[in-house]
Amino acid sequence: MNERILCVGLLVADVVVRPADSMPMPGTSILVEDLALVAGGCAANCASVLAKLGMSVAVAGQIGTDRLGDSVLADLKAVGVDVSTVRRTEKYLTSAVIGLIESSGERSFLCRPGANEQLTDDVIPDSLFDGVRIVHIGGAMKLVNLDIASVLRRASEAGCITTLDTDWDARGVWIEHLRPALPHVRVLMTNEMEGRMLTGEEDTQAIGRSLLAFGPQVVVVKQGAGGSTAVTAQGSLHVAAFRVPVIDTTCAGDSFAAGFLYGLAHEWPLRANLAFANAVGALCTTRLSHHGVTSLSAVMQLLEDQLGEGSFEQLLTNQRSTD
Ligand code: ADP
Repeated sequence: MNERILCVGLLVADVVVRPADSMPMPGTSILVEDLALVAGGCAANCASVLAKLGMSVAVAGQIGTDRLGDSVLADLKAVGVDVSTVRRTEKYLTSAVIGLIESSGERSFLCRPGANEQLTDDVIPDSLFDGVRIVHIGGAMKLVNLDIASVLRRASEAGCITTLDTDWDARGVWIEHLRPALPHVRVLMTNEMEGRMLTGEEDTQAIGRSLLAFGPQVVVVKQGAGGSTAVTAQGSLHVAAFRVPVIDTTCAGDSFAAGFLYGLAHEWPLRANLAFANAVGALCTTRLSHHGVTSLSAVMQLLEDQLGEGSFEQLLTNQRSTD
């Protein structure tokens, strides 16, 4: 089976700072425990976690020729992500974010737009889809110049499974930005807050049903410590989160997406997919960035520890549909 995955979208230089429970008074400073420059952005995070799970994965997107761009590429290469499909441009700076992480693990961001926001279709030619099983768009709401519908339509025509994760829309455009792409998306992932903004619905299942109507076969709603819910035409399925000591939730959604794609590539049943993705998301929160996800065996260990020996394997043998 061809398991290669292509993650298209946000490549960001992330400066993560923790703990940042309050801002220093003007003219003063406060001490923090951790401050690190790491490759971030939805596509980079998802690809990095997939590589750590042992998948063959490439990223496509755009970064500057600046030092922040060098650092993003070095981090991606270090975990085994294929970066030959990343475009470097002198025209724009690498998009950059300062992530302020509270002691509770909650986070807020200061974002400096750059090359991501200028990503256009010519960076994603059809040749990138050769030999690829899944094409994933990470951070769709911030790809304001990319014709996402065209990328996903071309990927579908090339025989790829298409998936998309939304991200927060700082412009406030929401469904108008996403709607043209949704008929070409097989699996749509969003979180509860984004889902509410996209649909105007409060309830998770209603969010799922509303988005399903635009064309995806599966809508997955990430619910933080509440786990995750998948909604399909057959109904909905909720799987509880794992209990872990939370340090930083910044990359949880992208790690969850990586876990879900892993299951999709292996044609697992939906419930197993959600459980595995929840485990990857949970592990991610135990350290800064996605560093809490170290390997496939660490994910399997968490599943065994919290579900009981053999329980996850049992899920894998269930009917390969929406059960
Ligand atoms: P996003 O980063 O897109 O907002 P979430 O915060 O919902 O996504 O996190 C994605 C997934 O990671 C959740 O569905 C859950 O499985 C896992 N996760 C996130 N936060 C926690 C937590 N506090 N405890 C356990 N698992 C978590």
